[in-house]
Amino acid sequence: MKKIKYLKCINCGKEFQQQKGLYICDECNNNLEVIYDYDFIKKKISKEKLKKNNKFDIWRYEPLLPIQDLSNIPPVHIGGSPLYSFPNLAKEFGVKNLYFKDDGKNPSASFKDRAGAIALVNALENKEKVICGASTGNAASSMACLTATKNIKTIIFVPKTAPIAKIAQLLIFGAIVIMVKGTYDDAFDLSIEASKEFGWYNRNTGYNPFTREGKKTCSLEIAEQLNWEVPDKVFVPIGDGNIISGIWKGWKDLYGIGFIKKLPQLVGCQAKFSNAVKKAFDSDGKIRAVSGKTIADSISVSVPRDGQAAVKALKESKGFAIEVSDKEILDSIKEVARKTSIFGEPAGVTSYAAFKKAVSLKKVSEKDNIVLLITGNGLKDINSAMKCVGQPFLIDPNLKALKGLIKKISIDK
Ligand SMILES: *Cc1c(COP(=O)(O)O)cnc(C)c1O
Ligand SMILES: [Zn+2]
Repeated sequence: MKKIKYLKCINCGKEFQQQKGLYICDECNNNLEVIYDYDFIKKKISKEKLKKNNKFDIWRYEPLLPIQDLSNIPPVHIGGSPLYSFPNLAKEFGVKNLYFKDDGKNPSASFKDRAGAIALVNALENKEKVICGASTGNAASSMACLTATKNIKTIIFVPKTAPIAKIAQLLIFGAIVIMVKGTYDDAFDLSIEASKEFGWYNRNTGYNPFTREGKKTCSLEIAEQLNWEVPDKVFVPIGDGNIISGIWKGWKDLYGIGFIKKLPQLVGCQAKFSNAVKKAFDSDGKIRAVSGKTIADSISVSVPRDGQAAVKALKESKGFAIEVSDKEILDSIKEVARKTSIFGEPAGVTSYAAFKKAVSLKKVSEKDNIVLLITGNGLKDINSAMKCVGQPFLIDPNLKALKGLIKKISIDK
């Protein structure tokens, strides 16, 4: 592919030519980054051309994507998620602008569709017959959703703790679902072994070099939605660290082709006991295993598979990391819903919980334009949502019962 120069190990810098079956660095086992020929790409993409393109999905950035053409893309609308501005909330929290990017709007209702779409097209371009992957739930439900109409078998490994809504998605779309009696980390290792043993294409986060390329499309969209004005800070939930490294890649690519003149600071948002990236960033940069225990299943990770890239993104962007408790995450589901009309899953609103903490720690300024990524839809995990609200009222179906109830409760908010 002309637009790609080579793939480069994020750790040791070893360079590789793109080829079927290439995943990680054979020297140090680290994740690879796609290095583009920006001069070539500049000739294919321009702000004016984008303005004339009225299809607002990830494929509008095709010159910046590691795919040959659009002949293999799934039929559903991926990306192009809304970026909402809330001036009243910006005022409340003392920042200049506060934006929410609602990625729960994607076909399988999470940010993962951006990654899954690129991995899928890559697999189809390589004429793969079977695609497999391990997931805490969302990467898998995305893969199942996007492969549904394609002639490729989909095999999913999930921990038995995955929320039931995500399991339902997997089964509905017709994937082969293998539940592993263990953690996400166990499912991950088994899926890699399976790929090697049976020759299946693997889309695992932090292993497949193209998921990051899909995830970066969120930054391209934010930039375009803000008319190429770069925000000061972008708050990103972190599990494996692939979204944040993808978000960073997106800004760097835009800088590389001359669309923007500065880069934002990234803020990594983690759950308290699933905070390996924060710990590494705040100390010597080395990832060490943590318990990974959190109610936010999508960011419940012991050893982040793309942790090193995440730490690098935080460092290069001169950003910082924030950790929040499960209680703060649960409260945020309710608060975000009531302040913005966006219903996020626990991991999805971790950005908001971390933003509030950043405000209280005085880590944001009144001059800041801030974007919070809401990475997944709340309907994916209603058990968690129900934990932060009460039960509905239950009455007999008559006016007398209703009047009795109204006397007891205050209906004025
Ligand atoms: C996967 C996921 C994340 C975290 O992304 P990583 O690349 O694992 O850091 C955050 N939120 C949701 C909803 C997710 O599905
Ligand atoms: Zn290497």
